[in-house]
Amino acid sequence: MTSPEKIPFMALERLHLPLREALIEATTRVIDSGVFVGGPEVAQLEQELAGFIGVKHAIGVSSGSDALLVSLMALGIGPGDEVITTPLSFFATIGAIMRLGATPVFADIEPTSFNLNPAHVRRLISTRTRAILPVHLFGQMAPMGELKALAQAHGLALVEDAAQAIGARCPEGAAGAIGELGCFSFFPTKNLGALGDGGLVTTDDDALAARVRALARHGATTKYYHPMLGGNFRLDPMQAALLRVKLPWLGAWNEQRAALAARYDEALSRLEPSLITPRRVEDHLHTFHQYCVRIPTHRDKLQAALTARNIGTMIYYPSPLHQQPCLETLGVQSPQECPEATRACQELLALPIHPALREDEQQRIIEALYEAFDSGVSS
Ligand SMILES: *Cc1c(COP(=O)(O)O)cnc(C)c1O
Repeated sequence: MTSPEKIPFMALERLHLPLREALIEATTRVIDSGVFVGGPEVAQLEQELAGFIGVKHAIGVSSGSDALLVSLMALGIGPGDEVITTPLSFFATIGAIMRLGATPVFADIEPTSFNLNPAHVRRLISTRTRAILPVHLFGQMAPMGELKALAQAHGLALVEDAAQAIGARCPEGAAGAIGELGCFSFFPTKNLGALGDGGLVTTDDDALAARVRALARHGATTKYYHPMLGGNFRLDPMQAALLRVKLPWLGAWNEQRAALAARYDEALSRLEPSLITPRRVEDHLHTFHQYCVRIPTHRDKLQAALTARNIGTMIYYPSPLHQQPCLETLGVQSPQECPEATRACQELLALPIHPALREDEQQRIIEALYEAFDSGVSS
């Protein structure tokens, strides 16, 4: 038997094929402009994204990681401060906190949405707490109503890690438009990806926007005048021009992801309880950055069975952030135990859901899952 054609987890080259000419044209436009830092491409992208997200200010920055860092800097977070966040995220979420000398405090996740559990957040608020940093994991928003109420009641900032959730909504509003600051990533594999690194900070607050802009230019409010210490956290015009080509497609791509998710939901429901499809929070618009199923027993064996059938999958995340060794070596006190996040790391498996995934490929993934369970992979 010849091995079947590879079904990649991501296929950016396929996604970009219909945009190829427009992307090349955008590159040429930037080369011919002679402007390679700042300039009109960045300003126009910022305006377009502010409109798309529904915020007053959108500030292009060098990455999602730097969006988080500069946001916490703008709030003045530093040594001795605590920021309550989730243990189920990409490292950048806590990296930003720790680079400022502040301490991440981990609340556990709610096991069906994989997002922060507000009851746990409440219990962890101390006199040192300065901010709550929820992550809209896999493209579904955290419980923003409850988190915002908590933040307001305790005088805390609310900063959204919306890196996976551009275009997501919940009853309280759009991702990145609810907290004091929203942080987005244009890492190539995100729902809106640059052809390199990039990020965005959103806010409705004029003073915070001015601080973020200055901090991204070494704290300069006017050229060569530095009332605060910042860094070089700028988005470059090449990436801005490329993102402007891709932004008009984002709505259709997110719809395509939702359609693929609905098809997985329906086709895989009969595999429960060996495989549990992701639950949607009512009245939320999920962007399905990832479609992660829960495999309560032998997740790794199932992944190996799919790999053997030439199907790419990923694990988000192999270990929870509260167990990262750098917390220990840096002496960060994080005694919280987060059993739900720990369990999710053992059970979650991300199936391909990129917008260029073909129907016949999805059908093959579904059939491969049925075959794997029929042949006893989970026993
Ligand atoms: C991708 C991601 C980031 C970091 O973004 P970069 O652009 O890669 O720096 C931060 N948080 C989450 C949840 C992410 O998924």
